[in-house]
Amino acid sequence: MKQIIVGNWKMNGLSAEADALVAGLATELATLPTRADVVVCPPFTQLARLGPAVKKAGMALGAQDCHQDKAGAHTGDISAPMLVDLGVEYVILGHSERRGEHHELDETVREKAVAAMAAGLTPIVCVGENADQRASGESEETVGWQIQGSLPQGFRGIVAYEPVWAIGSGTAASQQDIADMAAFIREELVRQFGDAGKTIRILYGGSVNERNVTDILPVEHVDGALVGNASLKAETFVPLVRAAR
Ligand code: 13P
Repeated sequence: MKQIIVGNWKMNGLSAEADALVAGLATELATLPTRADVVVCPPFTQLARLGPAVKKAGMALGAQDCHQDKAGAHTGDISAPMLVDLGVEYVILGHSERRGEHHELDETVREKAVAAMAAGLTPIVCVGENADQRASGESEETVGWQIQGSLPQGFRGIVAYEPVWAIGSGTAASQQDIADMAAFIREELVRQFGDAGKTIRILYGGSVNERNVTDILPVEHVDGALVGNASLKAETFVPLVRAAR
């Protein structure tokens, strides 16, 4: 499977810096002979402006969340059809920052994934244990429940394994931990979806950078990376794309 490198800008990017980042990415990506799929997920406020430049550079546009309903009385929310209307192709769902700060449950994430697929978006559903769950040896159990609860029947999308303790910490999970969890996730996906589970891309996320990416991307069952901090500068993001197969 072709790998995919996804940049999650989180709540970063005013117009001038967002423009400069996409322009920088366009210039540097143009120098690569062949490359992995690249998706950038700016905040909602930048999607409409950046869309054309992102596409022109051969990248795809992603959002960081969507509501589970198509439209209606949900003040402050954005629906999946609204994203499609802006040319968005991917949407991150159930990121641990949303599960934590916005109390999103597996069930909500599942409903959002249904809405995203119905609108024609590719959902990127995040799972991952926190530090306490890891310390008590419950990493696989936690991720197993999240996969069962967050992925709807007929899921066609991407699963991102993001151990919460590794996000923003500067230290990624070890190669062995990533290999073990990616194999476990693959097994769960096949158990839940049969052969289709073999074609669901599995990403690793959590402090991916230029130094550790060469340990992470070759791991079996790892089909790409979901990147936070290192996606905010062309010079730290492009090396990740270069390392992908
Ligand atoms: P960092 O790469 O900054 O650790 O963030 C990872 C992440 O949460 C991507 O969704």
